[in-house]
Amino acid sequence: MTATVSREIRLKHRPVGLPNARDFELVTVPIPTPGAGEVLVRNLYMSVDPYMRGRMIEQPSYVQPFQLGQPLEGGCVGQVVQSEKGTFQVGDYVLGRKGWREYYTSHGAGLTKIDPTLAPVQAYLGILGMPGLTAYVGLLDIGQPQAGNTVFVSAAAGAVGSVVCQIAKLKGCRVVGSAGSAAKVQWLQDVAGIDAAFNYKEVDSLITELGKHCPHGVDVYFENVGGAHLEAALEHMNIRGRIALCGMISQYNESKPSSGPSNLRLAVRKRLTLSGFIVSDHVDRQPQFYADMGAWIADGRIRWEETIVDDIEHAPQAFLGLFTGENMGKMLVRLGPGVP
Ligand code: NDP
Repeated sequence: MTATVSREIRLKHRPVGLPNARDFELVTVPIPTPGAGEVLVRNLYMSVDPYMRGRMIEQPSYVQPFQLGQPLEGGCVGQVVQSEKGTFQVGDYVLGRKGWREYYTSHGAGLTKIDPTLAPVQAYLGILGMPGLTAYVGLLDIGQPQAGNTVFVSAAAGAVGSVVCQIAKLKGCRVVGSAGSAAKVQWLQDVAGIDAAFNYKEVDSLITELGKHCPHGVDVYFENVGGAHLEAALEHMNIRGRIALCGMISQYNESKPSSGPSNLRLAVRKRLTLSGFIVSDHVDRQPQFYADMGAWIADGRIRWEETIVDDIEHAPQAFLGLFTGENMGKMLVRLGPGVP
């Protein structure tokens, strides 16, 4: 190993409203030396995810807030370059939680060996990783779709949404998706093979548009966006419909709490079930997820996209791009030269 320094991104300010590049700081530090029982990992890919916005706020949540002046954290895939721990060999590919930096040492907690022959290693941050499991659990366990149901998915061309759409099709549902560009709408129709898709940025009324595509109502709404999308879904939900509350990205940068959907009363009349969920509560579903997803990928029944931004110095830009819809499928950052 010839490199001696590692770059990392630290949180400089807690963002107010939409974050910007000045909230982050690129810092160069010496590569750490692994102690007894430790490994040194060189990161190859890191994930940027919408939930990280919540960790930039000092507030109680299901994950600890990021600390000012400290490197950010998150999903990453790397390779062991030095090992002082018998259970890891130099060259092993590992999934870890120390993203936003080029190198890190670990005792092995939170480090999982991955098989690079099953899929490209970065797939373990997307289709075979946290977003894939979120889609699987959120749709099948929380949304409980039945064949013939109409499933509506927001942020449908994103990492989670694109997988939800395709699993719902595999389960025999009619699937409608909303996304923020013509290219995304085309991908949803032509590649993901869903029944209808529309660009929410180009419609006068989300309620009217959704009604056009769901003449028999919506049985399952997979919520990624919140706000006007939730209102539109509530309007068209069928009796005893299910809403899987996965995320509400349209509200993550609001500095004041927004008022709720104006038509929540419909949940009573329609006997709806609205269930929030957090993927980390469902790790018990991972073996079945790997079995099903592995088979679907092997049969070519699930397709996925990645948007890859190069170099750690552009990681903040990749993160910010999630809020302006720059990504098709999973947003990833490729770290350093020579990474395939
Ligand atoms: P995506 O890959 O879907 O990226 C975010 C997308 O959201 C953007 O590409 C953009 O697409 C869309 N978006 C951004 N701002 C808005 C807005 N104001 N209105 C409408 N759409 C917007 O991210 P993920 O797949 O990783 O995450 C999707 C959702 O799932 C998020 O809400 C996230 O927080 C949540 N999540 C929840 C988990 C859980 O355990 N509950 C786990 C993982 C994710 P477009 O071009 O279509 O606007």
